[in-house]
Parts: sequence; structure tokens; C-alpha cells
Amino acid sequence: MPETPKCPFCHPQEDPHQHVVFENDTCYFLQHDDHQDILEGCGVIVSKEHRQTTFDLTLKEWIALALH
Ligand SMILES: [Zn+2]
Repeated sequence: MPETPKCPFCHPQEDPHQHVVFENDTCYFLQHDDHQDILEGCGVIVSKEHRQTTFDLTLKEWIALALH
């Protein structure tokens, strides 16, 4: 699925307050400065390829998300 210009997860480096903490060949673990007051260390794991829903993830992405 092609990336979308408005999706913040397709361009994580464009937000200076969002940090790529870990990454592998299919996924990022992202932390945003604005959300650290809610739960320190919190973040999101997202696929590098834009997916509209979790049901659109490939098997390789599911495995990578589950194991990291
Ligand atoms: Zn996206």
C-alpha cells in the first residue's frame, strides 16, 4: 500500500519531537516527546510500509511486531 502524505508514521523523521528508538527491516518503535508525560518510555510500533489497518500487515510484519 503506498504511503500517504498526511500519515505521520510514513515520515517519522519529519517531526523533530518524534524519535526512532529501534528499527528493523520492517518496523519502527517510535517515541514522541509530547506523550512522555502520560507514561514515560511509551511509544508505538509501526510498520515501515503504510498499512491502513492491522489486517493489512504482511505475515513478515506480524512476526516482526510480535517478536520485538
Ligand atoms: Zn503511513
